[in-house]
Amino acid sequence: MQPIKNLPARDGQLGWFESVPFQRPMPVRQAEQNEHFDIIIIGAGFSGLATAGRLAELRPEARIAVIDALEVGQGTSGRNAGFIIDLPHNLDATEPDVELNTRVRDLNCFAIQRLKRIQEQQGLDVCWHAAGKYLAAHEEKHFANLNAFVNTLEAIGEQYEILDGEALATRLGTHYYQRAVYTPGNILMNPAALAISVASALPDNVTLLENTPVREVDLSNKVVQTPKARLSADTLVLATNSFTEKFGVCRNQLVPVFTYASLTRPLDDSEISQFDGVTPWGLTSAHPAGTTVRLTPDKRVFIRNTLNFQPALRSSQALLDKARDQHRKSLLARFPRLANVLFEYTWGGMICMTMNHEPVFKEQAPGLYVVAAMNGVGVAKGTYLGHYMAELICGKQSPELDFILQHSAPSWVPPDPVRSMGARIRLAVEARRARGEV
Ligand SMILES: Cc1cc2nc3c(=O)[nH]c(=O)nc-3n(C[C@H](O)[C@H](O)[C@H](O)COP(=O)(O)OP(=O)(O)OC[C@H]3O[C@@H](n4cnc5c(N)ncnc54)[C@H](O)[C@@H]3O)c2cc1C
Repeated sequence: MQPIKNLPARDGQLGWFESVPFQRPMPVRQAEQNEHFDIIIIGAGFSGLATAGRLAELRPEARIAVIDALEVGQGTSGRNAGFIIDLPHNLDATEPDVELNTRVRDLNCFAIQRLKRIQEQQGLDVCWHAAGKYLAAHEEKHFANLNAFVNTLEAIGEQYEILDGEALATRLGTHYYQRAVYTPGNILMNPAALAISVASALPDNVTLLENTPVREVDLSNKVVQTPKARLSADTLVLATNSFTEKFGVCRNQLVPVFTYASLTRPLDDSEISQFDGVTPWGLTSAHPAGTTVRLTPDKRVFIRNTLNFQPALRSSQALLDKARDQHRKSLLARFPRLANVLFEYTWGGMICMTMNHEPVFKEQAPGLYVVAAMNGVGVAKGTYLGHYMAELICGKQSPELDFILQHSAPSWVPPDPVRSMGARIRLAVEARRARGEV
């Protein structure tokens, strides 16, 4: 058995998880006894849950287990900014690849429809709202990225609106941004609530085992050791995001980048009055290292920024404190009248990047499958890759699966210490370039 040296941790106060507006419908169950399953999926994020959901549809007789070191909604899938992005997210495309972007858009929309159906069926309040998304620039030098995005939208025939100055300020309740491209198809939600909703929809042939870290693994024999039980399977799926490399696969492919988020307390009546006529919104930055901001339906402000390379896959109190200080500056730069509003929660989470932005999606060895590296857009991508991972396992062919297989070849990343040095230098350069957008 090979030990797994780095295990997931909570990395701060998980704002979305703590503010889920409903009682979890199913009990939390851990692995208590040795058991054999037909299929074990490690990782109960959007990728693992989608794999399990589709497998259960295709093989209703199979005994399937989904295992996670944390509770559903506590991993990165429950810590993100809560955007289910419908459109390709390429800001540097001067000559957009129409075929590729159309396919990615269609797959994202497929994922949105699937998640929408689940949350409607389950009837849990995941704060789902079709708010669209602003891609916004504070500084003129980043207008080029907005133009590149517009080029892609034009090429694939998507609707958009360009907003400047006062018209934009009226929509957002801040004059901070000079220009934005608004696209209507993005969904905003509470990601921890949505992950719990998706997990609650899994049928009876799927056993969900939480607070169950896999501490040792034998990938050849598909055996995993958890604190209280040894589990085995005929088929093993790793849906473990950046932790995948700790299982000894995807070496020299992944770049785990930590980023941080904070959520304020709900604004009171006088504080929310400065947003008179403004409906809840979500905004990402024209520079990839800039700030993501949301005004939520429960009147909180969400801020996400700060990137650092953490090969131990764990944050620290010092890094969380530093990120919260930056979040405060970002909040006040946009909303100076919210000087009395403190953050109730600050947490960190991992964006699993690859050099060429392609995910890992493959049969690593007979009966061993890997789906990882969502490159920062894992709600939609994890959902559709998980779905098609199940189809790959079951031998179900489709043009969508062919497309995914053709675009799942992450390029080579040099081993440490070159990887760490390179990542830190690159992040420092990008942070300097994005300074005005943070
Ligand atoms: C702050 C932040 C904001 C983001 N914003 C967005 C956004 O708005 N929209 C978007 O689409 N994406 C966003 N992302 C990215 C998105 O959250 C990820 O792409 C997505 O969560 C990946 O899903 P996943 O299921 O592949 O991995 P994860 O959600 O990371 O799930 C992997 C699971 O594997 C489990 N695991 C790992 N190792 C073990 C082990 N040894 N034993 C047991 N379990 C294990 C982990 O606990 C974890 O729950 C953001 C990320 C961050 C950090």
